[in-house]
Amino acid sequence: MIDLNKEVRFLKGVGEYRSKNLQKLGIVTVEDLIFYYPRVYRDFSNIVKISDVKLNQKISVKVKVSQIKNHHTRNRRFFITEALVSDETGTLKVVWFNQSYLTKNINVQDNILLAGKLELDKGKTFLKNPEYEVLRGQNLETKHLGRISPVYHENSRISSKWLRSLIKPLLSEFEIADFLSEEIKKAKNFLDLKDALLNIHFPKNNDYLLKARQRLSFDEVFVPQFSSVVAREKLRQENSPSIKIDLGLAKKMIDNLPFKLTVSQKKAVWQIIKDIEKNRPMNRLLEGDVGSGKTIVATIILFLVSCTGYQGVLMVPTEILAWEHFSKIKSFLKDFKLNIEILTSSSKAKEKKLVLDKLKRGKIDILIGTHSLIAEKIEFNNLGLSVIDEQHRFGVKQRKALKEKNQKITPHFLSMTATPIPRTFALTVYGDLDISILKDMPKGERKVKSFLVPSKKRADAYEFIREKIKKGKQAFVICPAILKNDKFGIKAVEEEYERLSKDIFKEFRVGLLHGKINADEKKMVLDNFRKGLTKILIATTVVEVGIDIPQLTIMMIENADRFGLAQLHQLRGRIGRAGEQSFFMLFTDSKNPQTIERLKMLSKITDGFKLAEYDLSLRGPGATFSIKQSGYVEFKLASFTDYDLIKDAKEMAESIIAKDPSLKRYPLLKEKIRSIEEIVHLE
Ligand code: ADP
Ligand code: MG
Repeated sequence: MIDLNKEVRFLKGVGEYRSKNLQKLGIVTVEDLIFYYPRVYRDFSNIVKISDVKLNQKISVKVKVSQIKNHHTRNRRFFITEALVSDETGTLKVVWFNQSYLTKNINVQDNILLAGKLELDKGKTFLKNPEYEVLRGQNLETKHLGRISPVYHENSRISSKWLRSLIKPLLSEFEIADFLSEEIKKAKNFLDLKDALLNIHFPKNNDYLLKARQRLSFDEVFVPQFSSVVAREKLRQENSPSIKIDLGLAKKMIDNLPFKLTVSQKKAVWQIIKDIEKNRPMNRLLEGDVGSGKTIVATIILFLVSCTGYQGVLMVPTEILAWEHFSKIKSFLKDFKLNIEILTSSSKAKEKKLVLDKLKRGKIDILIGTHSLIAEKIEFNNLGLSVIDEQHRFGVKQRKALKEKNQKITPHFLSMTATPIPRTFALTVYGDLDISILKDMPKGERKVKSFLVPSKKRADAYEFIREKIKKGKQAFVICPAILKNDKFGIKAVEEEYERLSKDIFKEFRVGLLHGKINADEKKMVLDNFRKGLTKILIATTVVEVGIDIPQLTIMMIENADRFGLAQLHQLRGRIGRAGEQSFFMLFTDSKNPQTIERLKMLSKITDGFKLAEYDLSLRGPGATFSIKQSGYVEFKLASFTDYDLIKDAKEMAESIIAKDPSLKRYPLLKEKIRSIEEIVHLE
């Protein structure tokens, strides 16, 4: 029996070099290899008799070799290997070009499988360059031919043929415990886990392949669903403060805002008020496209909670955003006597100490901060509500840590994201969350025109920008974080800054912003831009999330191919926020047609949800999302848009928990959940 944790580099025939290349495919252990599912299959299972072979048809035959030899072509440029093979119905000629080593692999009297096409040349028929597999020993099962044969994702060093030879023998040596009970398997007509794994690699037939896929794609969806359901159940048993909101005050606060809330903003506020009234923790995701007005929803709730005497905290992913929220929330709440403070990694030690002390004594009502909120030894006096903005930017552990800041009683939890997640997908990855969606855009559809600008039009684009700036507009130029020669891309943005400030746009003041600039300076750079002192800002993606500069109407993206669609959409969300006609210009050196198509689609699709769906469709059923980064799950077989499968898995998970909350009858499942609990979302 082979140990699933054994590293593949210790397997016979792998070695140092291959194991490095396997690692590039994500394969380190035997288990990885066994869960490395084929990409597609080729069906060689239909073996015909020689007498039935027809011209120009792809066929497989099982034959005995009676002759095999090499010779040169007449002009001596090519090697030809010629063989005669036969079964009980006839004889065939076989010709291979330039594969003279074949005479070492194939011997006279060998039984072999051949797959190829029968061709006709100069009145003679022969099988040309067929694939072959020699049958040796007794009672053998083939790896490549005479069956449905797996084709894997390969790289230049690892071929499917090699992988088949590596995986096949392992499959008769491994054991794996099945976490689904016999009862479930029977009810669902599922294969055993082991049987499913055998058949996903080397299917007995098409039926078995289908059943293997059914079982394994169910597992992919079921396991994270199950952990969601467990997490939700756990949360239900925790206590939270029941926070009774003064509705009169809520109304007054909302009436005092400089604008009217949209219908979906009101609805979200209302849903949250209802949630936090309960003494069970709220666990809600507020989803809304960029510019849908999430901040104000959070602000209202933080305000209302703090008026009841509980503290609230808002955590954001970047320092810039922390300052922006801080000043915005302060200005919204300027008429109310509340203590609002900020804490970031660049807060000075003395200030930090002061803030922490006040926080502990309950002298701070609302705290806004970055990751340092987690890193610090923070003690709240009576935390009632935690809010996380741009939650997709945080790791799962970070989110979890913030939730656990207040040990005595679990604070209510609201996370916000602008990454539009289609419903089914949300159900999968956030199965344990309630969701509020901000559908309507407060300022109507933003008027943003997006273009993929061809290189030869670059000069025209600069002229266009120049004219706009002369009329008082402002522009961002975004460079990807990583460019050649420079790991952090600092040099690239600095070079771009030099070029634009000293040459192209020398008549305007140009600013520069990137991750390595210190916090005070960052603030100043942004302030100068906000005030219109600088007209153009060259920046890395430090500005990607959250920034709200209403008068920003032009954005140029360099090396757009290096960004993901969601990220580009986020960036696009920074412009045209005051309702003015805005321009989003993409530049790329890429010639890859798929890349161009992707960027063109981005220019066409303005709706974040539609874009996300397009993005998912590009990824197809093989989509993987990094678990470590975001708590997302990996689907190799299942499709994120397979609603029935997801629903099925969810119902199954719920029924198991309902019948057996402590999972006595599902020790393996319990184990599995525990092992992924660390990595899969637990909010
Ligand atoms: P996001 O959802 O991307 O975080 P913001 O909260 O930054 O969006 O809001 C975008 C802009 O819209 C801000 O300037 C905000 O003040 C404004 N805003 C929010 N809600 C409304 C509304 N109901 N009517 C008008 N403007 C609004
Ligand atoms: Mg925001």
